[in-house]
Amino acid sequence: MLSIILPVYNEENNIERAYSAIREVLAPKGIDFELVFVNDGSKDNSFEKIRGLSETVRDAKIIGLSFSRNFGKEAAIFAGLSHATGEVCAVMDCDLQHPPETLLEMYELWQQGFEIIEGVKRSRGKENFLYKAFAKLFYKLISRSTGIEMYRSSDFKMLDRKVVNEYIKLTERNIFFRALSSWLGYKSAVVEFDVKERASGVTKWSIKSLVSYAIGSITSFTTAPMQLITLSGVLFFLFALVLGVQSIVKWATGHALEGFTTVIILILITGSLIMISLGIIGYYLARIYEEIKGRPRSIIEEIVKSPN
Ligand code: UDP
Ligand code: MG
Repeated sequence: MLSIILPVYNEENNIERAYSAIREVLAPKGIDFELVFVNDGSKDNSFEKIRGLSETVRDAKIIGLSFSRNFGKEAAIFAGLSHATGEVCAVMDCDLQHPPETLLEMYELWQQGFEIIEGVKRSRGKENFLYKAFAKLFYKLISRSTGIEMYRSSDFKMLDRKVVNEYIKLTERNIFFRALSSWLGYKSAVVEFDVKERASGVTKWSIKSLVSYAIGSITSFTTAPMQLITLSGVLFFLFALVLGVQSIVKWATGHALEGFTTVIILILITGSLIMISLGIIGYYLARIYEEIKGRPRSIIEEIVKSPN
């Protein structure tokens, strides 16, 4: 059976649409499937729609999980994977931006023995300029520091049961699905897809949430920013050596009072560098603090299942 995990946040108009679109693709091929909807604290009627589906649909298994509040897409993916029962699982957006037809291609690759099949964006679809530039910068940073190509990557993936079992064993709270699935290794393949327009509703990302998502995922995946601090420290030390020698020479030749501008500039630069560095260290400290508290990733308030 193929389990499809769909994170849901205010998607009341897309639930039934997602089910019919997926069934239309899978049923003719005789692929048995299960839909795991994870309601990530929606403020609309999304969960009522999911409950409705679980009561009426008979040709597929429907599981609906409902969080007590919005915990974010990563938490939703994790919970969905933990509750999926199929021997192969796919994660896709419920706004149908990830085309269900691609599931077939992924499924064939899985049958050929691939264990992670990654959906890669052929085109990024309609996104505004700022978003595109931001995404590019963000993924460049991650690619540089981890060596994993990320710009075109997405959360649209199919994973073998083996991989899912390893993934749900990971204990970190701040988890980054896109990057971790490649960290896990296994035999992987890539399928290209075109990002479609949202079926209905609006994107859940604001600039603010994007920035915090970016910082969160960078700090959860790499310590490169901390190495940057060391690097800037070394550069500054070299600079200090040169200026130090110059100051001593000036003092020895009796011109010591000059150079007040340099002093001001140096204080400003070192001051801001130290504060930025403390901030970066602070992010990692906060991460350690969050991890060490060991709180659950999400709270599941209610589970609905179709009877079959
Ligand atoms: N989503 C979620 N929790 C959130 C934000 C989004 O579960 O806090 C879900 C959303 O319902 C959708 C998917 O994640 O199925 C992708 O979200 P969205 O379409 O808003 O992002 P975009 O496609 O614009 O990157
Ligand atoms: Mg979307």
